[in-house]
Amino acid sequence: MSIAAALRFNPGDKVADIDTNATPGFDGSKSDAAPVQAERSERLAHLQELLFANNKAADDQRSVLLVLQGMDAAGKGGIVKHVVGAVNPMGVRYTSFGKPTEEELAHHYLWRIRRALPPAGHIGVFDRSHYEDVLIVRVHNLVPPDVWGARYDEINAFERELVDGGMTLVKVAMFISLDEQKKQLAERLDDPTKHWKYNPGDIDERLQWPKYQEAYQAMLDRTSTDYAPWHVVPSDRRWYSRLAVTELLITALEAMDLSWPPADFDIKAEKKRLAKA
Ligand code: ATP
Ligand code: MG
Repeated sequence: MSIAAALRFNPGDKVADIDTNATPGFDGSKSDAAPVQAERSERLAHLQELLFANNKAADDQRSVLLVLQGMDAAGKGGIVKHVVGAVNPMGVRYTSFGKPTEEELAHHYLWRIRRALPPAGHIGVFDRSHYEDVLIVRVHNLVPPDVWGARYDEINAFERELVDGGMTLVKVAMFISLDEQKKQLAERLDDPTKHWKYNPGDIDERLQWPKYQEAYQAMLDRTSTDYAPWHVVPSDRRWYSRLAVTELLITALEAMDLSWPPADFDIKAEKKRLAKA
Protein backbone atom coordinates (compact mmCIF):
# COMPACT_ATOMS: atom_id res chain seq x y z
CA MET A 1 0.00 0.00 0.00
CA SER A 2 1.18 3.54 -0.70
CA ILE A 3 2.18 5.73 2.23
CA ALA A 4 -0.72 8.10 1.53
CA ALA A 5 -3.32 5.32 1.49
CA ALA A 6 -1.88 3.74 4.66
CA LEU A 7 -2.21 6.97 6.60
CA ARG A 8 -5.80 7.83 5.86
CA PHE A 9 -7.94 7.98 8.98
CA ASN A 10 -10.74 5.41 8.86
CA PRO A 11 -13.95 5.68 10.88
CA GLY A 12 -13.50 3.58 13.99
CA ASP A 13 -9.72 4.11 14.20
CA LYS A 14 -8.68 4.89 17.77
CA VAL A 15 -6.10 7.51 18.72
CA ALA A 16 -5.12 5.36 21.71
CA ASP A 17 -4.06 2.58 19.29
CA ILE A 18 -1.75 4.69 17.11
CA ASP A 19 1.77 3.27 16.97
CA THR A 20 3.68 6.54 16.92
CA ASN A 21 6.93 4.74 16.09
CA ALA A 22 5.56 2.94 13.02
CA THR A 23 6.41 3.73 9.39
CA PRO A 24 3.22 2.74 7.49
CA GLY A 25 3.76 2.11 3.79
CA PHE A 26 7.56 2.30 4.08
CA ASP A 27 9.68 -0.78 4.77
CA GLY A 28 13.13 0.70 5.00
CA SER A 29 15.32 2.43 7.58
CA LYS A 30 16.32 6.06 7.99
CA SER A 31 19.26 5.61 5.62
CA ASP A 32 17.02 3.95 3.04
CA ALA A 33 14.66 6.92 3.29
CA ALA A 34 17.29 9.59 2.55
CA PRO A 35 17.60 9.04 -1.22
CA VAL A 36 13.84 8.47 -1.51
CA GLN A 37 13.21 11.76 0.29
CA ALA A 38 15.58 13.60 -2.05
CA GLU A 39 13.89 12.20 -5.12
CA ARG A 40 10.35 12.75 -3.83
CA SER A 41 11.15 16.32 -2.78
CA GLU A 42 12.16 17.00 -6.37
CA ARG A 43 8.91 15.49 -7.59
CA LEU A 44 6.98 17.70 -5.17
CA ALA A 45 8.84 20.82 -6.32
CA HIS A 46 8.04 19.94 -9.93
CA LEU A 47 4.32 19.50 -9.21
CA GLN A 48 4.20 22.75 -7.27
CA GLU A 49 5.72 24.57 -10.21
CA LEU A 50 3.01 23.10 -12.46
CA LEU A 51 0.31 24.28 -10.06
CA PHE A 52 1.77 27.78 -10.01
CA ALA A 53 2.31 27.87 -13.78
CA ASN A 54 -1.25 26.82 -14.52
CA ASN A 55 -2.59 29.65 -12.44
CA LYS A 56 -0.31 32.22 -14.03
CA ALA A 57 -0.70 31.11 -17.64
CA ALA A 58 -4.12 29.46 -17.72
CA ASP A 59 -5.96 31.09 -14.82
CA ASP A 60 -6.37 27.72 -13.07
CA GLN A 61 -8.11 28.62 -9.81
CA ARG A 62 -7.10 25.54 -7.84
CA SER A 63 -4.91 25.50 -4.74
CA VAL A 64 -3.73 23.15 -2.00
CA LEU A 65 -3.96 23.66 1.75
CA LEU A 66 -1.74 21.64 4.07
CA VAL A 67 -3.18 21.64 7.60
CA LEU A 68 -0.69 20.57 10.28
CA GLN A 69 -1.90 19.63 13.73
CA GLY A 70 0.05 17.96 16.50
CA MET A 71 1.10 18.29 20.11
CA ASP A 72 4.10 20.45 21.02
CA ALA A 73 7.33 19.04 19.61
CA ALA A 74 5.48 16.71 17.22
CA GLY A 75 7.63 18.12 14.44
CA LYS A 76 5.38 20.59 12.64
CA GLY A 77 8.27 23.02 12.31
CA GLY A 78 10.43 20.32 10.74
CA ILE A 79 7.74 19.63 8.15
CA VAL A 80 7.66 23.29 7.24
CA LYS A 81 11.46 23.52 7.04
CA HIS A 82 12.21 20.26 5.26
CA VAL A 83 9.08 19.37 3.25
CA VAL A 84 7.63 22.74 2.37
CA GLY A 85 11.20 24.11 2.22
CA ALA A 86 11.84 21.92 -0.81
CA VAL A 87 9.47 23.92 -3.01
CA ASN A 88 9.69 27.43 -4.45
CA PRO A 89 8.65 29.89 -1.69
CA MET A 90 7.04 32.07 -4.35
CA GLY A 91 4.15 29.64 -4.48
CA VAL A 92 3.74 29.07 -0.75
CA ARG A 93 1.55 30.91 1.74
CA TYR A 94 2.60 29.96 5.27
CA THR A 95 0.70 30.90 8.43
CA SER A 96 1.15 29.75 12.01
CA PHE A 97 -1.76 30.08 14.38
CA GLY A 98 -0.92 30.78 17.99
CA LYS A 99 -3.01 32.08 20.83
CA PRO A 100 -5.51 34.49 19.24
CA THR A 101 -4.80 38.20 19.59
CA GLU A 102 -7.36 40.56 21.07
CA GLU A 103 -8.39 41.58 17.59
CA GLU A 104 -8.79 37.97 16.51
CA LEU A 105 -10.80 37.15 19.61
CA ALA A 106 -13.22 39.93 18.77
CA HIS A 107 -14.09 38.07 15.56
CA HIS A 108 -15.52 34.66 14.73
CA TYR A 109 -12.81 31.97 15.07
CA LEU A 110 -12.78 31.39 11.29
CA TRP A 111 -12.06 35.05 10.59
CA ARG A 112 -8.27 34.74 10.88
CA ILE A 113 -8.40 31.43 9.04
CA ARG A 114 -10.20 32.87 6.01
CA ARG A 115 -7.68 35.70 5.81
CA ALA A 116 -4.81 33.23 5.60
CA LEU A 117 -6.19 30.97 2.86
CA PRO A 118 -3.83 30.37 -0.08
CA PRO A 119 -4.45 32.30 -3.30
CA ALA A 120 -5.14 30.27 -6.45
CA GLY A 121 -2.06 28.43 -7.68
CA HIS A 122 -0.46 28.36 -4.23
CA ILE A 123 0.17 25.81 -1.54
CA GLY A 124 -1.10 27.13 1.77
CA VAL A 125 0.48 25.83 4.95
CA PHE A 126 -1.36 26.06 8.26
CA ASP A 127 0.96 25.42 11.19
CA ARG A 128 -1.92 24.74 13.61
CA SER A 129 -5.28 25.85 12.32
CA HIS A 130 -9.00 26.22 12.99
CA TYR A 131 -8.73 22.82 14.66
CA GLU A 132 -7.18 24.51 17.70
CA ASP A 133 -10.71 25.78 18.25
CA VAL A 134 -11.84 22.22 18.98
CA LEU A 135 -8.56 21.06 20.60
CA ILE A 136 -6.97 23.44 23.12
CA VAL A 137 -10.26 25.32 23.33
CA ARG A 138 -12.13 22.12 24.20
CA VAL A 139 -9.49 20.85 26.62
CA HIS A 140 -9.48 24.12 28.55
CA ASN A 141 -13.13 25.00 27.98
CA LEU A 142 -12.09 28.40 26.69
CA VAL A 143 -15.68 28.68 25.44
CA PRO A 144 -18.68 26.71 26.77
CA PRO A 145 -19.15 23.11 25.50
CA ASP A 146 -22.20 23.99 23.40
CA VAL A 147 -20.09 26.57 21.56
CA TRP A 148 -17.11 24.33 20.76
CA GLY A 149 -19.51 21.44 20.25
CA ALA A 150 -21.18 23.23 17.35
CA ARG A 151 -17.85 23.82 15.63
CA TYR A 152 -17.34 20.35 14.14
CA ASP A 153 -20.30 20.73 11.79
CA GLU A 154 -19.38 24.33 11.14
CA ILE A 155 -15.82 23.34 10.19
CA ASN A 156 -17.14 20.65 7.85
CA ALA A 157 -19.38 23.18 6.11
CA PHE A 158 -16.47 25.64 5.88
CA GLU A 159 -14.18 23.03 4.35
CA ARG A 160 -16.92 21.95 1.92
CA GLU A 161 -17.01 25.53 0.73
CA LEU A 162 -13.22 25.57 0.25
CA VAL A 163 -13.23 22.31 -1.68
CA ASP A 164 -16.10 23.50 -3.88
CA GLY A 165 -13.99 26.58 -4.64
CA GLY A 166 -11.15 24.42 -6.00
CA MET A 167 -8.99 23.86 -2.91
CA THR A 168 -7.56 20.45 -2.06
CA LEU A 169 -7.15 20.01 1.68
CA VAL A 170 -4.35 17.82 3.00
CA LYS A 171 -5.09 17.42 6.71
CA VAL A 172 -2.26 15.94 8.74
CA ALA A 173 -2.47 14.97 12.40
CA MET A 174 1.02 14.23 13.76
CA PHE A 175 1.29 11.95 16.76
CA ILE A 176 4.34 11.38 18.97
CA SER A 177 4.53 9.28 22.11
CA LEU A 178 4.75 10.99 25.49
CA ASP A 179 8.27 9.53 25.83
CA GLU A 180 9.37 11.01 22.52
CA GLN A 181 7.83 14.35 23.44
CA LYS A 182 9.75 14.32 26.74
CA LYS A 183 12.97 13.61 24.85
CA GLN A 184 12.31 16.45 22.41
CA LEU A 185 11.47 18.93 25.18
CA ALA A 186 14.58 17.86 27.11
CA GLU A 187 16.68 18.53 24.01
CA ARG A 188 15.19 21.99 23.76
CA LEU A 189 16.20 22.62 27.38
CA ASP A 190 19.72 21.24 26.95
CA ASP A 191 20.56 23.11 23.78
CA PRO A 192 20.96 26.90 23.90
CA THR A 193 20.19 27.06 20.18
CA LYS A 194 16.80 25.51 20.91
CA HIS A 195 15.76 27.54 23.95
CA TRP A 196 13.73 29.82 21.69
CA LYS A 197 11.53 26.85 20.86
CA TYR A 198 10.88 25.98 24.48
CA ASN A 199 7.70 27.12 26.14
CA PRO A 200 7.13 26.30 29.84
CA GLY A 201 3.42 25.98 29.02
CA ASP A 202 4.21 22.90 26.92
CA ILE A 203 4.60 20.89 30.13
CA ASP A 204 1.13 21.97 31.31
CA GLU A 205 -0.37 20.87 27.98
CA ARG A 206 1.54 17.60 28.16
CA LEU A 207 -0.06 16.85 31.53
CA GLN A 208 -3.45 17.18 29.82
CA TRP A 209 -2.68 14.44 27.29
CA PRO A 210 -5.70 12.25 28.23
CA LYS A 211 -8.00 15.17 27.52
CA TYR A 212 -6.15 15.99 24.30
CA GLN A 213 -6.47 12.38 23.25
CA GLU A 214 -10.26 12.68 23.62
CA ALA A 215 -10.27 15.96 21.72
CA TYR A 216 -8.15 14.53 18.89
CA GLN A 217 -10.42 11.49 18.70
CA ALA A 218 -13.52 13.68 18.39
CA MET A 219 -11.80 15.86 15.80
CA LEU A 220 -10.87 12.85 13.65
CA ASP A 221 -14.25 11.16 14.09
CA ARG A 222 -16.26 14.23 13.27
CA THR A 223 -14.24 16.12 10.68
CA SER A 224 -12.70 13.40 8.53
CA THR A 225 -14.97 13.72 5.51
CA ASP A 226 -14.75 12.18 2.06
CA TYR A 227 -13.93 15.61 0.62
CA ALA A 228 -11.39 16.54 3.30
CA PRO A 229 -10.12 13.42 5.07
CA TRP A 230 -7.61 13.36 7.92
CA HIS A 231 -4.30 11.55 7.74
CA VAL A 232 -2.68 10.21 10.87
CA VAL A 233 1.12 10.48 10.70
CA PRO A 234 3.20 8.58 13.26
CA SER A 235 5.93 11.07 14.08
CA ASP A 236 8.41 9.60 16.55
CA ARG A 237 10.74 9.09 13.61
CA ARG A 238 11.09 12.47 12.01
CA TRP A 239 12.59 11.13 8.78
CA TYR A 240 9.36 9.15 8.35
CA SER A 241 6.90 11.97 9.08
CA ARG A 242 8.72 14.15 6.55
CA LEU A 243 8.59 11.50 3.86
CA ALA A 244 4.93 10.83 4.71
CA VAL A 245 3.84 14.45 4.36
CA THR A 246 5.85 14.76 1.14
CA GLU A 247 3.91 11.77 -0.21
CA LEU A 248 0.57 13.21 0.91
CA LEU A 249 1.26 16.44 -0.94
CA ILE A 250 2.45 14.58 -4.05
CA THR A 251 -0.72 12.46 -4.03
CA ALA A 252 -2.92 15.57 -3.76
CA LEU A 253 -1.09 17.33 -6.60
CA GLU A 254 -1.01 14.28 -8.85
CA ALA A 255 -4.78 13.97 -8.52
CA MET A 256 -5.04 17.45 -10.04
CA ASP A 257 -3.69 16.06 -13.30
CA LEU A 258 -1.45 19.03 -14.07
CA SER A 259 0.62 19.53 -17.18
CA TRP A 260 2.57 22.47 -18.60
CA PRO A 261 0.16 25.17 -19.80
CA PRO A 262 0.37 25.69 -23.58
CA ALA A 263 1.66 29.01 -24.88
CA ASP A 264 -1.10 31.54 -25.53
CA PHE A 265 1.03 33.27 -28.18
CA ASP A 266 2.39 32.28 -31.59
CA ILE A 267 5.76 30.71 -30.77
CA LYS A 268 7.15 30.93 -34.31
CA ALA A 269 6.13 34.54 -34.70
CA GLU A 270 7.65 35.42 -31.33
CA LYS A 271 10.93 33.72 -32.31
CA LYS A 272 11.04 35.81 -35.47
CA ARG A 273 10.28 39.00 -33.59
CA LEU A 274 12.94 38.20 -31.00
CA ALA A 275 15.58 37.51 -33.67
CA LYS A 276 14.99 40.99 -35.08
CA ALA A 277 14.66 42.80 -31.80
P1 ATP B 1 5.91 23.91 18.76
O1 ATP B 1 5.08 22.75 18.34
O2 ATP B 1 7.27 23.92 18.16
O3 ATP B 1 5.95 24.04 20.25
P2 ATP B 1 3.79 25.80 18.53
O4 ATP B 1 2.89 25.58 17.37
O5 ATP B 1 3.37 25.21 19.83
O6 ATP B 1 5.23 25.23 18.19
P3 ATP B 1 3.77 28.23 19.96
O7 ATP B 1 3.83 29.64 19.50
O8 ATP B 1 4.69 27.70 20.99
O9 ATP B 1 3.93 27.36 18.65
O10 ATP B 1 2.31 27.92 20.50
C1 ATP B 1 1.12 28.30 19.96
C2 ATP B 1 0.08 28.04 21.03
O11 ATP B 1 -1.12 28.72 20.68
C3 ATP B 1 -0.26 26.58 21.20
O12 ATP B 1 -0.23 26.22 22.54
C4 ATP B 1 -1.68 26.52 20.67
O13 ATP B 1 -2.45 25.52 21.27
C5 ATP B 1 -2.20 27.90 21.00
N1 ATP B 1 -3.37 28.24 20.17
C6 ATP B 1 -3.49 28.18 18.84
N2 ATP B 1 -4.73 28.50 18.44
C7 ATP B 1 -5.44 28.77 19.56
C8 ATP B 1 -6.78 29.15 19.81
N3 ATP B 1 -7.65 29.31 18.81
N4 ATP B 1 -7.14 29.36 21.09
C9 ATP B 1 -6.26 29.20 22.08
N5 ATP B 1 -4.98 28.84 21.92
C10 ATP B 1 -4.57 28.62 20.67
MG1 MG C 1 4.67 25.16 21.44
